[in-house]
Amino acid sequence: MYNEIDITKIDTAQEPPLAEPERQYYFMAKCREWTDAFAKEHGRRPQACVVNMGCQMNARDSEKLTGILEEVGYETVSDEHADFVIYNTCTVRDNANQKVYGRLGFLHSLKKKNPGMRIALCGCMMQEPSVVEKLKKSYRFVNLIFGTHNIYKFAELLFCSLESEEMVIDIWKDTDKIVEDLPAERKYFFKSGVNIMFGCNNFCSYCIVPYVRGRERSRKPQDILREIEKLAADGVVEIMLLGQNVNSYGKNLEMPVTFAELLREAAKIDGIQRIRFMTSHPKDLSDELIQAMKELPKVCHHMHLPLQSGSSRLLKIMNRRYTKEQYLRLVEKLREAIPDISLTTDIIVGFPGETEEDFQETLDVVRKVRYDSAFTFIYSKRTGTPAAAMENQVPEDVVKERFDRLLKEVQAISKETSSRFEGQTVPVLVEQINEQDPDLVTGRLGNNLLVHFPGTEELIGKIVNVTLTESKGFYYLGELEGN
Ligand code: SF4
Repeated sequence: MYNEIDITKIDTAQEPPLAEPERQYYFMAKCREWTDAFAKEHGRRPQACVVNMGCQMNARDSEKLTGILEEVGYETVSDEHADFVIYNTCTVRDNANQKVYGRLGFLHSLKKKNPGMRIALCGCMMQEPSVVEKLKKSYRFVNLIFGTHNIYKFAELLFCSLESEEMVIDIWKDTDKIVEDLPAERKYFFKSGVNIMFGCNNFCSYCIVPYVRGRERSRKPQDILREIEKLAADGVVEIMLLGQNVNSYGKNLEMPVTFAELLREAAKIDGIQRIRFMTSHPKDLSDELIQAMKELPKVCHHMHLPLQSGSSRLLKIMNRRYTKEQYLRLVEKLREAIPDISLTTDIIVGFPGETEEDFQETLDVVRKVRYDSAFTFIYSKRTGTPAAAMENQVPEDVVKERFDRLLKEVQAISKETSSRFEGQTVPVLVEQINEQDPDLVTGRLGNNLLVHFPGTEELIGKIVNVTLTESKGFYYLGELEGN
């Protein structure tokens, strides 16, 4: 049972309520009747597999899909040989779309062996009309398709799909709706993402997100804080506040609240020991936020601050609304206020019209900022974005050569910068048994760097002091303090 609503007590003979989330709990009860009947007939619970693709916001949405599937009586598994498989898709780059079409072929082969199997698709890729047309035409074996704006309706749509042999499609162009208090099944017992807002109003000229995630809408602070209190009561020690651009949190609220104010309130919640957030847009990074990061010990000293390009000329065409100089000034302010801060970023290579001079500007910022790490991307044309229609697309070989140069520069610098904590004893959140060596555990420093050190399973979820004995470039080896 989740929250206050016990689905076993819902009278499904009645009409479904209109109010949310009660309506969705009504349909969870309906779906439960279906899974109970399945269990009676097959002598086992039906199995469901949720496959998350894309960003941390998608990952949090996938935890909600998993929570609803478990609430209605599915056994969730990680193998796609299941009775119900749902892909929570991403569309930020074209190869994400191609990956989905490829995987659908495999799912179709599974469905041929298990005709009762149901396949569902949701997430950002489904918000592209051309994609839905293609699925309707060439992937008729898909049972359910819905988008990013009505993910809260999953239980209702699942019931429709269970009751029908037709393909069920429900895609909304946009929404101002936020539905709270739906089940969610966290991937980690000790940490959790917390969506604070949805959508983006920035329309960077290369980005498809505003077209698939809609306009910015912030959750009410009291709903966010209530969720964090529940997570803390449930043993969570670290939260990641999530939004496409958390720095513009609260602007659409009746009573606007700034992101810095929300951080201060979240930091007051007992049990939460660490607070992270992403993603920050440089144009909205306020002195108030920097001050809050400086003053609040629970806020991790890590800032992911996408640069995209170091050329002010390109930044203008990208519609990023800051210049190279303004970006560097922000970094200066961050380092003055929080000297040990870890800075990471996103950089695009090969944006239409990018010249060698522009690229040199990017390299110049990389050398000046000295990031602990950087996600580097080759520009991907996204149909429907202004950049996709731009004339001077950069030749592939030129882009590839620049990409290799950038990667070399970024990696050389982060190897040096990431080793600056060697010899220190620092608090580490232990996250898992090391994948390569079962005698080691892997933990994360406040600044997001990883350390592997001798330890056992019961340390997982705890924040312990670890001496960083050796830097290995992008991670550390260490010793539990006192060992
Ligand atoms: S800020 Fe720009 S890059 Fe980020 S999601 Fe919004 S439009 Fe895309």
